[in-house]
Amino acid sequence: MRALNRREALELISAGLVAAATPSGSAEATQTFPPGAVIRTVLSDIPPERVAGGATLFHEHLSFADDFMTRWVRYAADTRREHALPSATPSATAPSPRPAAAPPAPAPSTPSGRYFMQDADYQVEEMRLARTDGISCIVDGGHADMGRDIGFLRTVSERSGMPIVAGAGFYAQPFYPAALSAMSEQQIFEALMQQVASEPVGCFGEIGSWDYITRDERKVFRAVGWASVASGLPIFTHTGIPGKSALEQLDLLEDVGVNPAKVVIGHLGNLVDPAVEVHRAICRRGAFVGFDRQGGQGDATQVPLVMTLIDAGYADRLLLASDLSNISQTRQAGGPGYGRTLTVFVPKLKAAGASDAVLRQIMHDNPRRFLACVPTQSRPR
Ligand SMILES: [Zn+2]
Repeated sequence: MRALNRREALELISAGLVAAATPSGSAEATQTFPPGAVIRTVLSDIPPERVAGGATLFHEHLSFADDFMTRWVRYAADTRREHALPSATPSATAPSPRPAAAPPAPAPSTPSGRYFMQDADYQVEEMRLARTDGISCIVDGGHADMGRDIGFLRTVSERSGMPIVAGAGFYAQPFYPAALSAMSEQQIFEALMQQVASEPVGCFGEIGSWDYITRDERKVFRAVGWASVASGLPIFTHTGIPGKSALEQLDLLEDVGVNPAKVVIGHLGNLVDPAVEVHRAICRRGAFVGFDRQGGQGDATQVPLVMTLIDAGYADRLLLASDLSNISQTRQAGGPGYGRTLTVFVPKLKAAGASDAVLRQIMHDNPRRFLACVPTQSRPR
């Protein structure tokens, strides 16, 4: 009998036929984790098996400073202008590019009048709805320099029952604290380890290069790599459109000893290349490729990229999420909600030919394998 390829093997696993077909392939039937591996959520360290029943979203946002997105949109417009690119239209309520002197647009609010990323009642309801959609764990990609409030995440997790993993790190050049430029890699490493020691973070992310990677961003990437090796926590990244410096990000992390299996290079749905050269290079090196702005306008472009990677045998290297950042995307505002990767994007992959077994692998198994870690530090209170 000829050897099964990975995709065929996974389909057989799903059908319960693998033991009869390939005795040596039965190890793939159950996902195993290193002894002591946990997913470190904001409330407790949980066994990875506990979130097996649903999808895990590896890159979303539940908590921001109320001016974060206004700044983000302004910096993005500046960057696109510098490169003479047409203005982006990421979402319904994002303001169009404007002169820097113009007053910031008011943050869209919930019925209570608050910014949704600071309204616990609103986010508790969104998390309840996401659980109903089949989501069993969500990673928040913010940290202090983005105005992420870990106490807020704890409240939302406690009241909604949704396990939430918080990130640590520094975001990207336009958002760095002013002091960072003068800090050494060692000092940045120490600051990162302080974050890990003082708050129950479960990963480093999102760690970004805003445009082409800068000198300061290189320092941060190397320091994050060291901190990941020292703490055991995995890393997910932000690349500037279209996937700028993606390979260099992985180079920097690998150079300081990070295991690529604990890295996601993110926003690679923005890198539209039918041959998926960069995506395949990252998969071959053993890291994950993040398609993490799904369930919206980009889907039609990105479905063929994801299918090409699945057909090339890289389903075990794919991670999907939506990077939710705007109230218009939430269920209570009439949008598809935090579950939109699962409820909107995944059906499009299925219609394009992806099997249920492969989709389950991508949505359930890959993110647990990414997040499961053996922290070297005891859990902060
Ligand atoms: Zn993000």
